[in-house]
Formats: sequence, structure tokens, C-alpha cells
Amino acid sequence: MGKYALLRDAVIAGLPDIRLEVAPAASDGELALAHTPTYVSAVAEGLLSAAQQREIGFPWSPRMVERSRRSVGATIAAARTALREGVAANLAGGTHHACADKGGGYCVFNDVAVAARLMQAEWHRLHRKLLRVAVIDLDVHQGNGTAAIFRDDPTVFTLSIHGAKNFPFRKEASDLDVELPDGCADDAYLEALDAALQTLWQRHSDALPGLVFYLAGADPHEGDRLGRLKLSAAGLAERDRRVFAAAHERRIPVALSMAGGYGRVIEQTVAVQLATMRVALDHWRQWNNTGHDRTRPTRHP
Ligand SMILES: [Zn+2]
Repeated sequence: MGKYALLRDAVIAGLPDIRLEVAPAASDGELALAHTPTYVSAVAEGLLSAAQQREIGFPWSPRMVERSRRSVGATIAAARTALREGVAANLAGGTHHACADKGGGYCVFNDVAVAARLMQAEWHRLHRKLLRVAVIDLDVHQGNGTAAIFRDDPTVFTLSIHGAKNFPFRKEASDLDVELPDGCADDAYLEALDAALQTLWQRHSDALPGLVFYLAGADPHEGDRLGRLKLSAAGLAERDRRVFAAAHERRIPVALSMAGGYGRVIEQTVAVQLATMRVALDHWRQWNNTGHDRTRPTRHP
């Protein structure tokens, strides 16, 4: 939990051009776009069973509910801003283990699933068109909740690259799953990423997604307590650059969630996530043509 405040402070100190906003709380109606009304009200009213709470991993409290609502609200706000400005981020979120009717693995609500459905609804109201969404989940753990929620939804493509031997031990089927062995390092990881991105674009050869949600977990880092992989900080920054470059080449906005990161040294986790924010800021500048890089991609989703 300590990393969130540290990351915010590091962004304020190190990347002052990033505009910070207070996260709004997601409403019951918004949460019900991806969760069952029964589960939403059980969380809101403190009626989760002991087993449900154990699966989430931390105890219920009114503050836990408020934090979970705001974490979803931050991803909603990031997605709306990304559709206008090309890039925006939630400094938390990426709670991808939450399913429609239950939480799990420190995740109460699935921020990306709720935001994806809401952006599709808002986009359709404004443009009378379908907003296709791609979820690029590079947290070291599989995005099982997201995969389950969108299992039968061809308008949301779910990609997860994760440790084969890592939590969750019963994985769900994403549209594209890439499993990596323990100890996987930079070169093998980046090769797998390139291949996965290529498949993602191939599967959208008739219509590109209009929005990417990127879960930039810091937990593939070699210093992570839970990750089991061996990526360096430089390797993770290269990962981020490749994801942003691939989206921006196709003029697809990116909404970023920070997802997991459990460094033995918490400052290392924060440094990896700050580096992700630096890459995001670079791409915001490119998208808005305000940076040094004046090469602007022209293709429209
Ligand atoms: Zn994780």
C-alpha cells in the first residue's frame, strides 16, 4: 500500500508536467457495467462472506469500499482523458483479478472492465459507433478476472503476458495468453511482447481498437517478491516504450493503470512505475505535438 503515496510524490517531484487530478468515486451503476448488482451491494454494504473477504485478501471497511470505488473512477477518468488527449493514467488500478461476482488477489472491482464498458457506452452515444477496446495486461499475474468478464465479448480483446507458475493458479482463457517460464529476462520477454503485439494487430486487421488499456505492472521486475521473472528496470522501460509506440503508430489512445509491484525494496517498485509515467508523458507530448519529437503519426483508428 505504501507505494501509492510514494509514486504520487515521485510524480509531483520528478514529472511536474503531469497534471494530477483527484480520482472520482465510481457509482453503483457504473460498477454494475462489469459486476453483478448482488456483488456490488455486498461490497458497498459490508455483506461479503468471510470466504469472499479471504479471497480478496484484505478486510472490509468503509475506507476499503471508498478506495475501491475511486480506483475504478480514476481509470474511468483516465480513459475519458486518453480519448481526448491520447494518453492518461491511473496511479493505481489494474485490479484484474476481480470477476463479475467476486473479488480476489487484492482486487475488489475490476477498474479496466468497468471503464471499458462505460467508454463503449459513451462513445456509442456520442458517435453512434462501436468502440473496440484492447486490454494489454503486462502485470506478471494473469488477468483472469478481465478474461472471464470479456470471455464472450468480441468487442474487447484481452491480451495477458504473465508468469506460467504464478498466481492465479487456475487461469481463465484470454483472447491471447502468453505464459513465461520462471526467471525469464529482458530479451526473451521483449521478443514475446513483440510477437504478442503482432498477433493483436493481425487479429484486428479489419478494424483497429479505438482504445487500449495498458496494465503496466512493475512485478515482472527482478527485485519483486512475487514476480518470479527477472526483468531489469531498463527492460521494463523498453517494454513500456514498445507498447506506447505500437499504439501510437496506429493512433490509438492509451489509458494506463499501474497494476502490481511488490518489490523487496519498495523504492525500486516506485522507480519502475515512475519510469513508466515518464514514457507515458513522452507519448502524451508526441500525441499532442508539444514535445521535441515532431513526428506525428497520421493514421486514425
Ligand atoms: Zn501482479
